[in-house]
Amino acid sequence: MYGGLPNNYNPRPEGHMKEPTFLERYLAWLKRMDDIRRPLASFPCPHCSIKLKTIIPDRVDIHDSAKVCPFCLAQFTCITNKSGEVNTILHHEGEKAEA
Ligand SMILES: [Zn+2]
Repeated sequence: MYGGLPNNYNPRPEGHMKEPTFLERYLAWLKRMDDIRRPLASFPCPHCSIKLKTIIPDRVDIHDSAKVCPFCLAQFTCITNKSGEVNTILHHEGEKAEA
C-alpha cells in the first residue's frame, strides 16, 4: 500500500474545507441582495475598472466601507451616498489581499 501515510489519512478533513474566494463570496452576496431586491449602486473598480456593485444606504446619508475587488483583489474604500453616487479611494498600489 502507500507507505508513510497514516491509515486515517484524509486529504480533506471536516472543518478544513477550502475558504470561498472573494469572487465566490461576492457572487453569493449579489444573489442574496437580488433575492431581497436590495437596490445596489454600480461603480467601476478603481484598479481594474470592472463593474462592481455596492449597497445604497437607506438609513444614513453616506456609507463607507473597506472593500476588496473580487476580480483583481485591489483594496479600496467605497463611499456611497443616498442617491447611489459612489466614490472610491484606492489603497496603496500593489497592496493585494490574499485570495
Ligand atoms: Zn478590480
